[in-house]
Amino acid sequence: MPFELPELPYAKDALAPYISSNTFDFHYGKHHKAYVDNANKLIDGTAHADKSLEEVIQTAWTDKNAGLFNNTAQIWNHTFFWNSLKPQGGGAPTGELADRINSAFGSLDKFKEEFKQAGVTQFGSGWAWLVLDGGDLKITKTPNAELPLVHGQTALITADVWEHAYYLDYQNRRPDFLQTYLDHLVNWDFAAANLAKATA
Ligand code: MN
Repeated sequence: MPFELPELPYAKDALAPYISSNTFDFHYGKHHKAYVDNANKLIDGTAHADKSLEEVIQTAWTDKNAGLFNNTAQIWNHTFFWNSLKPQGGGAPTGELADRINSAFGSLDKFKEEFKQAGVTQFGSGWAWLVLDGGDLKITKTPNAELPLVHGQTALITADVWEHAYYLDYQNRRPDFLQTYLDHLVNWDFAAANLAKATA
C-alpha cells in the first residue's frame, strides 16, 4: 500500500497569525507531499511496499539507506508535527504530564527554556523533541530527518526547525518561532495522550 499524505488535523488557516496558510501551502502542500511521493517511488515494487511506515523507517535506518530513510522519516515527522500543534495551543499541561515535566525540568518555564534552546542550537535543519527515554522525560534534538524511534525513544511532542517551517512567517528568527510554538501552538493534549499510550 502506498503511503498517503494525511489530512491536516485543522484548517490550514487555523493557526494564523502564528503560522500562516501560506506556510501550510508550502510546508504541508509541497514539502510533506514531496516526501510522500518520493517514498512511494522508492518502495514501489520492492519488499517495503507491504510494510508499515515505522517498519520501513527502522529498516532503512539499519541498512543506511539514506534516500529511503530521509523520505519515510520525514513523512512520519511532519504528521507528528502537525499533531503537535493546535489552535489555541500553548498554555500549561495538566495531570501526569505536568507532574513529570516539573520533576524532570524543575518547572514548565525551565522546560520551555531548555526546549527552545535545543531548537535554537540544532545547527542547520532538524527537530526538537520531548521524548520518553527509558521511563524518563528528556529534551532532544535531531539533525535532518532523524527521529526518536531509531534511538528507542518515544516521541511526545516535536518542533520542526528546518527553515521551511518558519521562513515565510519569521524569516531567520528561529527563536521567535520556537517561543511562539511554546506559548501559542503546542498541543499538550497530544503529548499527554502519547505519554499515556507509552506508559499504559
Ligand atoms: Mn518541515
